[in-house]
Amino acid sequence: MPAGSVTRFAPSPTGLLHLGHAHAALFARRTGARCLLRIEDIDAGRCRPEFAAALIEDLAWLGLEWDGTPRVQSRHFIDYRRTLDALAGRGLLYPCFCTRGDIASAIAAQHGVPAHSYPGTCRGMPRGEAEARIARGDAHALRLDVARALAATGPLAFTDLIQGPRRCAPEAQGDVVLARKDTPVSYHLCVTHDDALQGVTLVTRGEDLLEATDIHRLLQALMGWPEPLYAHHALILGPDGKRLAKRDRAPTLRALRTAGHRPDEVRAMAGF
Ligand code: GLU
Repeated sequence: MPAGSVTRFAPSPTGLLHLGHAHAALFARRTGARCLLRIEDIDAGRCRPEFAAALIEDLAWLGLEWDGTPRVQSRHFIDYRRTLDALAGRGLLYPCFCTRGDIASAIAAQHGVPAHSYPGTCRGMPRGEAEARIARGDAHALRLDVARALAATGPLAFTDLIQGPRRCAPEAQGDVVLARKDTPVSYHLCVTHDDALQGVTLVTRGEDLLEATDIHRLLQALMGWPEPLYAHHALILGPDGKRLAKRDRAPTLRALRTAGHRPDEVRAMAGF
């Protein structure tokens, strides 16, 4: 670990923390780097202040302390908007009016398009038409024109301390959404913005986010932000061998605590 490294734990307060979060938090803290806490609460429909308060308390109970004051993303929409405007000013974003249904039928009609990626329906929309639709209040997202972005940056890669070297293929995910219809910004934009702003030099997170990093490297290269080191760790699995998730009612730290487990026992259950 290079001296002066900075990492972070960046949970989204959409529910109570479970053992998977405890693993990620302990992993970040145990790197030995300066470790920040960031509350990623941009999705007002899913995040709740009481979950943010609960996670801070649960992490403290677990014995985790953080460096500096936690950053709360929902207080910084103006900063993220500036980044969006900078990308839009370079012609790298376009409005997309498609519904989920529109996208599913366009994918079904176009063989060879990966089912999870966007087939580019609105990419070629004449500017006048897009402006008229925005003026009349049609709901739209803003997508990154990934081919154009890659033409500006050239090929990208990153070093992962666990997974090894990786060549980025952001195009495999289609033109990702950077501003959603219901939320003014997206995870990809906020996370890269904040990692750069906060001087994060080591990004630790679960390996389920490995592909997201291909997009993050693209945004970093476009914005001239530094490239951190990455460590995408394995996810801890439930007794059924599947990853723990809130929707599967994974045991929350709070439930384990109420059941009488001590912090050191819960840390051990989380792999530390
Ligand atoms: N907020 C994201 C999550 O809870 C993690 C962000 C990150 O580590 O980059 O899944």
